[in-house]
Amino acid sequence: MSFRATILTLYPEMFPGPLGVSLSGRALERGDATIETRQIRDFGIGKHRAVDDTPAGGGAGMVLRADVLAAAIDAAAPDGDRRPKLLMSPRGRPLTQRFVRELAAGEGAVIVCGRFEGIDERIIEARGLCEISIGDYVLSGGEIAATVLLDAVIRLLPGVMGNDQSGVHESFERPLLEHPHYTRPAEWEGRRIPPVLTSGDHGAVERWRLAEAERLTRERRPDLLAVPETDKER
Ligand code: SAH
Repeated sequence: MSFRATILTLYPEMFPGPLGVSLSGRALERGDATIETRQIRDFGIGKHRAVDDTPAGGGAGMVLRADVLAAAIDAAAPDGDRRPKLLMSPRGRPLTQRFVRELAAGEGAVIVCGRFEGIDERIIEARGLCEISIGDYVLSGGEIAATVLLDAVIRLLPGVMGNDQSGVHESFERPLLEHPHYTRPAEWEGRRIPPVLTSGDHGAVERWRLAEAERLTRERRPDLLAVPETDKER
C-alpha cells in the first residue's frame, strides 16, 4: 500500500511542481507515493462551468460553490475511501510534524485547495473536511500549502530517505530545534568547526549537539519547551 494523495484544484498544472524533483521526485517515480489531481472546473455549473459565485451578504471576491465542490469530492473519494479529507485554510489547525507523521502512516489524503475568498462553509461540515493551515499568513490559493504538506509527508514514507536515521533527530521530531551542522573545510574565512565535532569522542559530540539544540530552542522558540496541551494530543 503506497501513499495516495488526490488534490482538488482549479490549477492542476501546479502539480507535482517542486514535488517532482529530488527526494520526493524519486519517491513519485518509484510509486512510493502517488499524486493525482482533479480539476474542480470539470464539476462546474452550466456551459461556462462556473465554480464560484458572489458572497452571500455582500462584500468583495468570490466564493467556491458547495455543490460544485461536493461533486468533485464525491468523485475523488467515493464511499469507502478512508483517506482523511483536508482543506488547506488559513484558519485551520496549524500543520505540525506530529500531524505530518500521522498522515505518512496512513493511506493518503484528499486535499481541497481553495481560491478566491475561500469556499462555502457548508461543504466543510457536510463532507467532514479537516482544515489545515501552514502558517499565519494568507496565500492566494491552497496549492502551495498542499505542496508544503505533501513534501513533509513524502520524505517520511518508508524507504524515501536513504538514511533512515536522518529523520529521527530533526527539528520538531523532539520538541527541540536542530543543532547546527558543519562540513569541510575545517577552517573557512577564519571560522573553525567547533573542535568537539572533530575530536572523535562520540559521547561528547552527542552532548554538545543536545546542549546546542537546547540553547537554540531557548533563544528562538521557548514556546516549544512548554509543550502546549493542544499539541500533546496531536
Ligand atoms: N478569505 C480567506 C483567505 C482565502 S485565501 C481568509 O481571509 O481566511 C484563498 C485560499 O488559499 C484559501 O481558501 C486556502 O485554500 C488557501 N490558503 C491561504 N492561506 C493559507 C494558509 N496559511 N494555509 C493553508 N491554506 C491557505
